[in-house]
Amino acid sequence: MSDPQPDHTLLTPGPTPIHPAALRALTRPMLGHMDPEVFALNSEIQAGLRTMYGAAEGTFTALLAGTGSLGMEAGFANLVEPGDEVLVCTNGSFGARMAEMAGRYGAQVRLVTAPLGQPIDPADVAAQLDGVKMVAVVHGETSTGVLNPVPQIAELMRGSGALLTVDAVTTAGMEPFDMAGWGVDYAYTGAQKCLSAPPGLAPVAISERAFARFHARRTPTPLWYCDFEGLRDYWDRHSYHHTVPVNLHYALHAALHAALDEGLLTRQARAAQIGQAVQAALAPLGFTPFVVNPAHRLPTVLALRLPTGFDDAGVRAALRTRHISVTGGLGPTAGQIWRLGLMGETARPAPYLTLLGALEELLGERGLTTRFLDALEPALA
Ligand SMILES: *Cc1c(COP(=O)(O)O)cnc(C)c1O
Repeated sequence: MSDPQPDHTLLTPGPTPIHPAALRALTRPMLGHMDPEVFALNSEIQAGLRTMYGAAEGTFTALLAGTGSLGMEAGFANLVEPGDEVLVCTNGSFGARMAEMAGRYGAQVRLVTAPLGQPIDPADVAAQLDGVKMVAVVHGETSTGVLNPVPQIAELMRGSGALLTVDAVTTAGMEPFDMAGWGVDYAYTGAQKCLSAPPGLAPVAISERAFARFHARRTPTPLWYCDFEGLRDYWDRHSYHHTVPVNLHYALHAALHAALDEGLLTRQARAAQIGQAVQAALAPLGFTPFVVNPAHRLPTVLALRLPTGFDDAGVRAALRTRHISVTGGLGPTAGQIWRLGLMGETARPAPYLTLLGALEELLGERGLTTRFLDALEPALA
C-alpha cells in the first residue's frame, strides 16, 4: 500500500476533504472527557448545532459517537416502541435503510415510495397518516441526488400527532434547515458530510415533543449507548455516561464554527454555483442530470447520467491512479450515473478544476476547464 497522498482530490458524496481547522484540532494533546474545558467546548458545539439546524432556543443538541447511521439508529431506538406504526419515505438507499432500522426496533413499517430520481409526493404521506406515530424522511437522498419536500410534508403532518424524523445528512450545514419553523422532532447528520469534519460523530437535535414521547415509553430504549436521557446526563448535567472522542469534538467544533462564520447562505450559494459550472462543463460530452426536474435536485449531490458508451469503471479507475476519487451509482444506478459531491470543502473550484483537467487528458477532450471557469466567472467576480 502506498502512503496516503496529501493532495488527494476527494469528490465523493462523503466523506468530504477535512477542513484545515479541523485537521489542526485533531492533533491537540488529549484532555479528559470530564474536563471543564471540554464541557465548555461541548456547550459551544450545542449552541452551534442549534443554529445549524434552525432549532428553537433550548432544543437539546448533541454529538453521538458514531457516524450518520448511528444518528439514524438512535432516533428509532429512542422514539419507536414495538408495534408503533411508522411511515417511512423510501425513494432511495437511505430511505430503505431507515425502513430496515425502524423494523428492527419493532415498528410496523408503512412505506411511501417514489420512482428513483423522483421526490416523495407529500400528498402520499398525508393520505397514510392515520394511526401513524412517526414519519421518517431523508431530506437529501444521496443515492439519487433527489431533494425531498420536507417543509411540505411537515406542513401536511401538522396536528396529526406523529413525530417527524428527518435525515439531514446531505443538507444541514449547507442547505436551509428550519427545524423549529418546519416542526421537525428529530434530525441528524454525519460530521464528514456538509461540515467537512472527520467521520465518527453524528450531530443530532431532539425536540421537546420527541423528549415527551421518549418519557412516555413503556420500556427503556434497547440502545443504552444513545439513550436520550443518558446523553442529557453528559451534555447538560455533566455527569459521566460514556467516554466521548474528545479530539473529534475539537475537530467538529472547528469545522462547525468555520461553517457558521462563513454563513449558511454563502455555503448554499457555493454548492449551487460549483454544481451549475460542473454541469455546464460536462454537458457537451453528453452528461445529463439524472433528476429531470431542476426543482427536485439536491444541490449538494450532483447526479449525472453518463454519456452513452461511457466507460464508467475504466475512467474512474484511471482517475483513481491520479488520486482523484469519483463515486458512481449505487444499486440500480450502478454504471449509469456519477454522483459528484458538493458538500462542505468539496464545493470549491480547485478540486473540480483538477477533475476536469484530468478528464480532458483521459478523454482527449478540450474545453472542460474553460467552460467551468467561464460558468463560474459571474460568481467569482
Ligand atoms: C452518508 C449518509 C448516511 C449514513 O451516514 P454514515 O456516516 O455513512 O453512517 C445516512 N443518510 C444519508 C442521506 C447519507 O448520505
